[in-house]
Amino acid sequence: MARDSYEAAIAGLKKLLSEEEGLEEAAAAKIEQITAELGATNGRWSIGDAIDHIRKGFHYFKTEKFDKDRDLYEALAKKQEPKFLVFACSDSRVSPSHVLDFQPGDAFMVRNIANLVPSYDKLRYSGTGAAIEYAVSSLNVKNILVIGHSKCGGIRGLMELPPRPPINFVEEWVTIGIPARDKVIAKYGDLDFDTQCYHCEKEAVNLSLMNLLSYPFVVEGVKNKTLTLMGGYYNFVEGTFDLWGLDLTLLPTIPI
Ligand SMILES: [Zn+2]
Repeated sequence: MARDSYEAAIAGLKKLLSEEEGLEEAAAAKIEQITAELGATNGRWSIGDAIDHIRKGFHYFKTEKFDKDRDLYEALAKKQEPKFLVFACSDSRVSPSHVLDFQPGDAFMVRNIANLVPSYDKLRYSGTGAAIEYAVSSLNVKNILVIGHSKCGGIRGLMELPPRPPINFVEEWVTIGIPARDKVIAKYGDLDFDTQCYHCEKEAVNLSLMNLLSYPFVVEGVKNKTLTLMGGYYNFVEGTFDLWGLDLTLLPTIPI
């Protein structure tokens, strides 16, 4: 949000609250009522549940991890030296910290829809470019790992893209994967749609590995052998994880 529009929004909110005395309390009560109704109707969500989850989650982390490993957290308070830059999908089922047991300090992470890495572009996708640049040039990570996964909604969206310009953020974002989609359709177009999506989940990882090579500092690291690029595929239906290298040769599957 531009500074002007941000300040305008704050001013607008203040004006609204000053004009409507008691609005804050009324709004809070209304929100509470609505969330209570939501919680009662679907039986699984309320603000209270959310706060409870956050409170209990942090309490568990603090007492079972932070307080029990002060050496680690004191060292991490001084600096981070992650060995990995990881790209993973935003999907709630595929957290690399859980799936690969990354501990704090192990992995610098970017998560987005369909774990896509766009090719180098100074005018677009600066958030992704900044993360790669910082991880490679400042943190000197040794490995970049792009992880695809089973039943990826983002990849499905890519495969279902209609033949017209994108009309929302998701459509615009997944267009990064169009070369992977086209390759899969050319090779597996006669297979059923779910199978095509499965192949595209892997092909999109390969595309991202190729796109990483459009970043000059990544190419430099690969040439100097200080940086390794790897693709991964987490199948949460079968409970398996495949790992392969930049030459797209399948490395031994890691059984879970
Ligand atoms: Zn996904």
